[in-house]
Amino acid sequence: TREIHLASRPTGWPEPSNFELVETELPAPAEGQVLVRNLFMSVDPYMRGRMNDRRSYTPPFRIGAPLTGAAVGEVIESRAEGLAVGDLVRHQNGWREHTLLDASAAERLPGLSGISPSAYLGVLGMPGLTAYVGLLDIAGFKKGDAVFVSGAAGAVGGLVGQIARLKGASRVVGSAGSAAKVAHLQEALGFDAAFNYRDAPVAEQLNRAAPDGIDVYFDNVGADHLEAAIGALRVSGRVAMCGAIAAYNATEPPPGPRNIFLAVTKRLTLRGFIVSDHGDRTAAFVEEVGGWLRDGAVRYDETVTDGLENAPSAFIAMLRGENVGKMVVRL
Ligand code: NDP
Repeated sequence: TREIHLASRPTGWPEPSNFELVETELPAPAEGQVLVRNLFMSVDPYMRGRMNDRRSYTPPFRIGAPLTGAAVGEVIESRAEGLAVGDLVRHQNGWREHTLLDASAAERLPGLSGISPSAYLGVLGMPGLTAYVGLLDIAGFKKGDAVFVSGAAGAVGGLVGQIARLKGASRVVGSAGSAAKVAHLQEALGFDAAFNYRDAPVAEQLNRAAPDGIDVYFDNVGADHLEAAIGALRVSGRVAMCGAIAAYNATEPPPGPRNIFLAVTKRLTLRGFIVSDHGDRTAAFVEEVGGWLRDGAVRYDETVTDGLENAPSAFIAMLRGENVGKMVVRL
């Protein structure tokens, strides 16, 4: 079987040489363990942070050891009570074709009719919960709010816009990095307006897309997007600070928003969050978003790359914006 190790820490943008494909022996489960064949693994922006030698909210990946991350797989051998051959499980030992898991590390998943198991890595997984908690709890979204979300064609952003629309936003605006993504937001995901942040300054385009201002900004990008949103927010506006991907591969810290004093005059709330603190919202999230998915009210996009050997390039492609919806690797 094969796994991907971190060969060296990237400086700036990651490169294929930072990763190594390693052959290992297929292990046998001990008492209380299962052997899992991974079907899909996730590549996520936060993994870039773990490749640095700096403690953040998660510890750094180790050089010469397999990378980790969310994956879904099928139990192919079981010595654990409550887990049987054929069961679908979610766990954190991605970046490898097979893995041994203690029963406590394997979350048994219900099979989904008509939906790929990869949905458990996206719309029904960590990114989905991030969108749900960030919009509803952190930004305190209320019916009638005008919402702006950056990274809108990605896993988190695409769901933020759809939840806002389903819950009665007065206007939903998104930004993304290509004309095709902008068309997708408006035609497939029901955004009222969208723009390509590469076309002209974000502040200018946001003012055109939301001439009456916004109440909520869901920030996936930081930098010029955050500054533009602070400018466009109305009095008592709220920002869910979810990510700042524009800076993840930067070698110098990005400049801060030059208009931050507007947070005082407009009585803004800027609130950061980490989704793993909000596991108590999982049941409500699965119930509500799962229902929308079944009814076809929420659309779920993903970009699928095949083969473990292509996982590093899928990860880099995601950072470059080559994905629409959730980027996953099929193993
Ligand atoms: P996405 O599916 O959105 O993929 C990343 C996207 O970022 C790319 O497709 C690209 O789209 C966009 N991007 C890359 N560079 C830039 C840039 N310089 N400026 C603007 N956009 C850029 O990833 P996720 O949905 O998984 O994650 C979205 C954000 O949410 C990230 O910031 C991530 O770190 C954060 N996050 C935070 C969590 C938390 O607990 N706080 C949990 C999960 C995610 P484009 O073509 O539009 O440029």
